[in-house]
Amino acid sequence: MKTIRGNIWKIKKADAICITTNGIIGQHNRAVMGRGIALDAKIKHPGIDYLLAKKLNKHGNHVYLLTEKTKKGISLLNMDVFSVNKNIPYHIVSFPTKNHWKEKSSLSLIKKSAKRLVKLADKKKWKKIIVPRPGCNNGELNWKDVKKVIEPIFDNRFRIIRKKKIIDSFRGKYAFLSNFYFCDIRYRNIVWSSLEHLFQAYKFTSEKIRRIIWNASKPSEAKELGNSYKLRKDWDKKLKKKYMLKFVRLKFKQNKVIRKKLIKTKKAILIEGNTWHDNYWGDCKCKKCKDIKGQNNLGKILMQVREEFENV
Ligand SMILES: [Zn+2]
Repeated sequence: MKTIRGNIWKIKKADAICITTNGIIGQHNRAVMGRGIALDAKIKHPGIDYLLAKKLNKHGNHVYLLTEKTKKGISLLNMDVFSVNKNIPYHIVSFPTKNHWKEKSSLSLIKKSAKRLVKLADKKKWKKIIVPRPGCNNGELNWKDVKKVIEPIFDNRFRIIRKKKIIDSFRGKYAFLSNFYFCDIRYRNIVWSSLEHLFQAYKFTSEKIRRIIWNASKPSEAKELGNSYKLRKDWDKKLKKKYMLKFVRLKFKQNKVIRKKLIKTKKAILIEGNTWHDNYWGDCKCKKCKDIKGQNNLGKILMQVREEFENV
């Protein structure tokens, strides 16, 4: 088996994806699919809970193929109630990890489901099957324990998917990602004490103002100063981004320890999460900005620079 990172619903090429399920039928003859991937499936594919309930009722809590291939493509199994037959890019399979939704997931049930899934894949000649870490989210199991059980069963056709890691606070362990992080950056023979100092200074062409900002004792002070003078005439989005990219590169090029830390964040999504309504460089998390998707330009630059260093 292989492990991958990403969003299970955004997988482009796969024969089948698995949704982790339980064995309970709730109101109106519908399977209880109230959380996690099962809930996503219910929202994306209305009627799937009814379909699963029918199977559970007839044959018990097992692995079921919930889709079929028709001339038009893959769609939910054609069972009386379905008037909408959406085209689905892959087959969907239920994968029981627990009997009652209230319980913890069960390793023995996961083992059973894994074996049944392999049989189904053999029968259908599938080559790529995506499986979430079974029982590890709402099932409260430890991935280490689950891995021990399923690794001997799943061959390389099976990809265990996990969400991409998101780092959306540049504090504590990740403070080095913040522009306020103290570290020497040499630019044109002057050493600046943080990226914030350097960036704020270059909003101006006056050497006098630059020197005043260079002198600021803290990055926050540099920022304040940077907001108190008239900006250079050519200061637009393009130039802003150009300088930010240049300075982020310099920061990590000249400081080996934090460069290594940046590379160690691997494929994690970096978001400059803030509370001061900056939706240009980052993404503000306050109540007012809740519905605004921040452009996260600093996060994007950090990820770009990380990739550049990875490839060195
Ligand atoms: Zn805000």
